This record gives sequence, C-alpha cells and structure tokens, in this order.
Amino acid sequence: MISEDIQEFGDLINRAQRILLISHIRPDGDAVGSLLGLGLMLEELGKEVNLVLEDGVPLVFHHLTGADKVYQEPAGVYDLIVVVDSSDIDRIGSVLDEHGEPDVNIDHHPTNTQFAKLNLVRESAVATVEIIYDLALALSLPINLPIAEALLTGLLTDSLGFRTSNSTARTLRIAAELMDRGANLQVLYRKAMLEKSLAAVRYWGQGLSRIQSEDGLIWTSLTLKDREIADYSGRDDADLVNILSRIKDTAVCVVFVEQTDGKVKVSWRSRPGYDVAEIATQFGGGGHKPAAGAEIKGDLKRVQEEVIEATRKILT
Ligand code: 5GP
Ligand code: MN
Repeated sequence: MISEDIQEFGDLINRAQRILLISHIRPDGDAVGSLLGLGLMLEELGKEVNLVLEDGVPLVFHHLTGADKVYQEPAGVYDLIVVVDSSDIDRIGSVLDEHGEPDVNIDHHPTNTQFAKLNLVRESAVATVEIIYDLALALSLPINLPIAEALLTGLLTDSLGFRTSNSTARTLRIAAELMDRGANLQVLYRKAMLEKSLAAVRYWGQGLSRIQSEDGLIWTSLTLKDREIADYSGRDDADLVNILSRIKDTAVCVVFVEQTDGKVKVSWRSRPGYDVAEIATQFGGGGHKPAAGAEIKGDLKRVQEEVIEATRKILT
C-alpha cells in the first residue's frame, strides 16, 4: 500500500515535464545527495530537470555524477518545484524569488514548517535521501549507480558515518542495498567526510586555538580574518563543530562563523538529553535535537554572548 502523499507525489511528477529541484544554502552531503539522487531519477524518466543550489556544490562533492549540472539560480518556467532537505523556505536563499512557490517539500527535520503544497516530511528518517530512497521504491523510480552514490553520500554524511543516535538497522540495510547497486562505501566516505583540504585544516586550527570551555559547554568562533589567513573558500565551519563534539564530557558545543553579510552562522551539537534544535529555533533557525543551526544578524561578539547565554540555560 502506497501512502496518499507518496501517490500524490507520483501523480505530480507524472504530469510535470519541466521540474526544478532546490536545496539549502551552505549545502551538506544530504542536500547535495538528495538533489542529485532525485534529479537523476527524474532525468531517467525523461523529465527536463533543473538543479539549483544558491551556493553551488562544495568541492568535496564534485566527484558525484551531476554535480557539474547544478546551477546557482533557476532559469525559466517550471511545471513543478520541489525543495529537498530544507526545514523552512528561507533555507534555500533567494533563488525562488521570481520563479513561483514550492509545490513539494521533502525533508526530515522535526522543525520543518510544512511550507509547500505537498509536504513529505518524515522525522524518523536519518537523512532526506532515506525518504527519496523510499519514494523510489514505492513509485518504482530507477536507482542506477550514480543515483546510489548520491543517496549513499547523503546517508553517510547526515549519520556521520552511521554514528548518530538516529542511525538504525534500517539505515544500514539501505546502505547495503545501495552498495549492492555498486556504490563504493569506502571511497564515498573518504571523499565526502574524511579528506579535508589543507586550507580547511588550517581554518580549524584558527578556531581550535581559541576554544572556550565551561561546565560541559564548549565553543569557539571562526572569523572572516581566519578564513583569509587559512585561504579557506567556504562560508561554513569546514565541519569544525563535529570535531568539537568529540571532546570528552561535552554536553553541548557551538561554533560561530562570521559571514560577510553582517550575520553569524551558528552550529550546535549535543549529547542525547540536550535539545539544541529548540535553542536554534529561538534564534530563527532549526534542525534536530542533537544537531541544529541558525543564521543570526549581528556582530560576532554580540551573537556569541546571546547564544552562549541561551545555551547555558539548557545545561542547568
Ligand atoms: P549545521 O550546523 O551542520 O549547519 O546544521 C545542523 C542541522 O541544523 C542541519 O540539520 C541543518 O539543516 C540545520 N540548520 C543549520 N542551519 C540552519 C538554519 O539557518 N536554519 C534552519 N532552519 N536549520 C538550520
Ligand atoms: Mn539532512
């Protein structure tokens, strides 16, 4: 039995010819994997598909098939607009401004605002690619090797290599299915998660050199100057927050990344029992209980003070 919303999604793609797929700014492996995975499936069905990421595809995902076909803005008129892995509409940046409203929202964030006409939101999914995998099974969409590689990349990156508490036996079964279709787990893991550029590691060094700690709370910041010194090209934290989360006896860790537009990108990670999505939501962001983020207006020092103050509250 196919659920009603999945059937409706199937009907929408059957009727559409020109389809726009979008995911979020500062895209991670699940954003890229979901976009490419679903995009390649729809292309296999003979659809004209446009893939859009306002920030483009990060270098660590350039090996994935279709990464070179991702544009930073839409072009033209579409029959169907699908947003993947984005908990609210602001997460996609300003790419949709003159191109219409999202028809479908496929996501796994508990903080999802159900912003589209059809919302395929599954909080139990470890990654959005898991939902796309389920859609493929239910609707008999093709999963060839490049699609399997895109989906496995999203599964690996969002589960931190099957380490997050929401990783289940089913997550591993899906990974195994994708490996059966030829996806190479070790290579995808190394490319998307393990390998870092020298610039990224120098950038970490800037952040690690001024780490602060207080009763189970660990935080640090990355300034625009740090980015320049390290010659790091991304607008993100190069995954420094997941390094901080490995520090023993840390309940919550936070990384502040200064941006060029007068905003600060904040990333939280927490041990089970501490809900950082709730704090991120207070600041206009969102995410999951153990991993959340927000983009906050203001200078680095003030944002840091306000966020640390609010984060302290959940620790006491
Ligand atoms: P990260 O800290 O790695 O950017 O993101 C951690 C989690 O929080 C991810 O699930 C991500 O989608 C979500 N997240 C990060 N930044 C934002 C944001 O600005 N707004 C919302 N709504 N979610 C965010
Ligand atoms: Mn995700």
